[in-house]
Amino acid sequence: MKKKRWNEYLWIWPIIYFTLGFFNILFAWLGMIDFLLPLIIAIVGGNKAFCNSYCGRGQLLAKIGSKSGCSRNKLAPKWLSSKWFRYGFLAFFLTMFANMVFQTYLVAAGANSLREVIKLFWTIRVPWGWTYTAGTVSNWVAQFSFGFYSLMLTSLLLGLIVMALYRPKTWCTFCPMGTMTQGICKIKANNK
Ligand code: SF4
Repeated sequence: MKKKRWNEYLWIWPIIYFTLGFFNILFAWLGMIDFLLPLIIAIVGGNKAFCNSYCGRGQLLAKIGSKSGCSRNKLAPKWLSSKWFRYGFLAFFLTMFANMVFQTYLVAAGANSLREVIKLFWTIRVPWGWTYTAGTVSNWVAQFSFGFYSLMLTSLLLGLIVMALYRPKTWCTFCPMGTMTQGICKIKANNK
């Protein structure tokens, strides 16, 4: 049997990440690795090596969807992978990210107080206060953690929903990181 390479076990990473954030929200900052690494690889290498070989989330969706039978394995509607939807979703996602950074700024400036909740699907507030002891770090550091974890968990849940409805890696067809890295690779290839 072919020996597995270390990066084939990266599906464990999202499980560790969300578990850590369940006990201590400050671990949410580790999600910046998933945010920055694909961009750095695309900018420096001009390729999608992150998606192809190092994305734990992609691996996890593939694993749950194909091994557990949780996916209907149906072809997703074409509009999900259309240009307007992918770029529209990316614009929406980046707007929500910018809003989260702005909320962090308001807390840093003292205009807002720290909210120890996570927001699912940008609307549903879920109390998450047990994961943070007031005063451990600056309020803005904690606020960013709550906001970023919300974003990460929401996108995972969206990924799981489309995994169940369609094929295991349907999320990848409109994943904001995938869209951004693809765009960067295209620009780099055109400028060669
Ligand atoms: S498209 Fe997104 S979820 Fe899929 S492999 Fe790439 S970064 Fe990971």
